[in-house]
Amino acid sequence: MKKVTVVGGGFSGLVTAYYLSREGFAVDLHEASHRLGGLLGSERTKNGLVETAANGFINCDDLEDLFKDLGLEPLKPQAHAKKRFIYRDGLKRWPLKFFESLGLATKFLFKLFLAKKSLRPTNQETIFNWGLRNLSPSATDYLLGPGLQGIYAGDIRRMSAELVLGPLFQGGKKKKYRGTVSLANGMGDFVMSLVQKLSTQGVKIHLNSKYKVESLSEPHVVAVSASAVPSVIEKVAPQAAAELQKIEVLPVLSVTVFYKEAPKKIEGFGALFPADQGFKVLGVLSPTYIFANRGPEYSETWIFGGTHSPEMLLKSESELREIILAERAKILGSSAEIKDIHIYPWPKALPHYTLAHQEILKNLHLPQNLYLAGNYLGVIGLSKILSRSKELASQMKRTHS
Ligand SMILES: Cc1cc2nc3c(=O)[nH]c(=O)nc-3n(C[C@H](O)[C@H](O)[C@H](O)COP(=O)(O)OP(=O)(O)OC[C@H]3O[C@@H](n4cnc5c(N)ncnc54)[C@H](O)[C@@H]3O)c2cc1C
Repeated sequence: MKKVTVVGGGFSGLVTAYYLSREGFAVDLHEASHRLGGLLGSERTKNGLVETAANGFINCDDLEDLFKDLGLEPLKPQAHAKKRFIYRDGLKRWPLKFFESLGLATKFLFKLFLAKKSLRPTNQETIFNWGLRNLSPSATDYLLGPGLQGIYAGDIRRMSAELVLGPLFQGGKKKKYRGTVSLANGMGDFVMSLVQKLSTQGVKIHLNSKYKVESLSEPHVVAVSASAVPSVIEKVAPQAAAELQKIEVLPVLSVTVFYKEAPKKIEGFGALFPADQGFKVLGVLSPTYIFANRGPEYSETWIFGGTHSPEMLLKSESELREIILAERAKILGSSAEIKDIHIYPWPKALPHYTLAHQEILKNLHLPQNLYLAGNYLGVIGLSKILSRSKELASQMKRTHS
């Protein structure tokens, strides 16, 4: 059996190990910390479930197959979660005004039916410029900007349209994505079930093992974050390490709050906050309304950081409480008292998908037997990382058998 070493026991490393062992490789997985899951994890508190970072997966065939194999039942959102809000002088389900909507519909429909090719992002085009060219200034500020800020935490004036939106315009069979799913006991349950499966598949897991690739006599998949990858590969791939060192990484802070009393609640999936609306927060999720079994108490998860409010990672707990209550009062127009707060700072959480990032990926050349997995390689969400890892494992099988 061909041996493969996987470096990193976050989502990317675990799912890559899963697919590689199914393809017949003997897998050794090294994780630097004492626990597996990386950004993913769940804490069951007396007030309710708290996620450390990701709250759900976007459902797709590969995820359904994996859940089936792990014996897991996907937890679908509740009916209330259909409502999503964007703040524009108040919480709105549709933040554009009448004539803005009309202008957007006319321009976009014209392009869609009569000039579809011009929708394709051009070389070196930012998402902001793509939005102005194909949508409208208000749709860019109040739909596109907040929507992407909620996923990438980046600045659309610097983010690459080709990198982020390009795949939508590529030919070939498209994967179908079908809404958000999680698990009754949260994302941590997924990690636990996957780890159990890996051990039945014979994957050897080494915890507290900070790994550096010293030789490529056997294949290695390095599945660590963008900030960690250069030091892991510098000995065997100094040029690639130098290139990856240039990646800009963004800090993200996830704060889950339970209230003593919350007279007003965000009754839906959550809310996004356009940059010009005067908030520190990027988005607020309402786990109680998204999934059943998140209580007993009502909670909100506040996401800060990214390019918009990186300073929020330096705030103390009491400063965060104050900011959340002040912003909440502005959003909902009523005060509340915090009962319990859970703070997860991720100083190097996400790669910034800028034009420079696109160039880094284009210039990346890896030596034989070295492979990369992770959220800086063109896809950031869990389901897309999953499908990419599956493809990587089958490509490695073709190469090494
Ligand atoms: C607040 C937040 C919310 C998010 N919400 C969602 C969501 O709802 N849905 C979604 O699809 N995505 C979401 N994402 C994105 C998603 O969570 C990440 O893209 C994904 O978890 C990244 O996983 P990873 O394994 O690539 O990296 P990581 O989780 O960072 O894991 C990397 C692992 O490598 C280990 N490591 C580092 N160096 C070494 C070394 N030298 N040797 C061995 N091990 C090493 C680390 O300890 C870590 O365990 C969210 C991200 C954040 C920050």
